[in-house]
Amino acid sequence: MPKCLACAEPIKVGDKYYNDVSGDLIHDKCTADDSFVDLETEAPLTYRPTPHVWTQQDQDTEDADAEALPTTATGETIQ
Ligand SMILES: [Zn+2]
Repeated sequence: MPKCLACAEPIKVGDKYYNDVSGDLIHDKCTADDSFVDLETEAPLTYRPTPHVWTQQDQDTEDADAEALPTTATGETIQ
């Protein structure tokens, strides 16, 4: 189960979240309105993007990933 970057609580099914540039996830409720930037220009966004919702399918994928080493499309293990 992924953990929130800010509060370290797990992201649970039904939780709204965002992807941080670090690759970690962060709860919708743990972000400030001024914490969003355009990834190309790094300019602050003037609006709040729509958060993703962590679904059971996401959780199943996460669980499967935890059991197997990540592989590329060609089946090589990512170092
Ligand atoms: Zn959080």
